[in-house]
Amino acid sequence: MREVAEKAGVKVSKIFQINESKYSKHTNAFFTGFGPEKSIYIFDTLIKTNTPEQVASVVAHEIGHWKNNHVLKNILLSFAGSVLMTWIVYFTYSACGYAPGYPHFSFFDGTALTISDIASLPLISAILTVFSFWLSPIENFVSRKFEVTADTYEIGMGGHPEIYIQSMVQLAKDNRSFLFPHPLVTFWYASHPPILERVKLGENFNKEKK
Ligand SMILES: [Zn+2]
Repeated sequence: MREVAEKAGVKVSKIFQINESKYSKHTNAFFTGFGPEKSIYIFDTLIKTNTPEQVASVVAHEIGHWKNNHVLKNILLSFAGSVLMTWIVYFTYSACGYAPGYPHFSFFDGTALTISDIASLPLISAILTVFSFWLSPIENFVSRKFEVTADTYEIGMGGHPEIYIQSMVQLAKDNRSFLFPHPLVTFWYASHPPILERVKLGENFNKEKK
């Protein structure tokens, strides 16, 4: 594991095993840490069902996320998202509250309900729910792009697309992934590309090499 990380120029201080098998069969790996020193965390479930090469491949995927600054980009994007949502809530609320022709929100005695009233909280959360539903395809589109980048890094670094493909097949088995999701479901809800698309990425890499 250390070799994989060091090959990528990541200094690993500690490697931890998480006893996930006590709770579920779900597999995962990630690493944390600011600065040059990182800690790798690997679910024991991943170690049980995958060969050491496949585990190393999964770690390479996580390194791919880190190398491409996905964590930082995610923080910036969610910050931008929060600003946008705040604006949307404020705008929708104001439009509904004050613009002529829109329904006015008021208490039963007729006093206008302003956005700063605690009683407007359910309304604010309703507006948030509606708009986050419509924003989720954008969020997931970005997430899927990041996953493809990390997968490409994983295959490129290991140089063994077949190990990548094996680990994808294992991932699908361990997490009981649905193999043929409807494209619309993927478009709207999926944070990762469908597993068969990810396998195809490995196969295409094989073809390009030949
Ligand atoms: Zn990923």
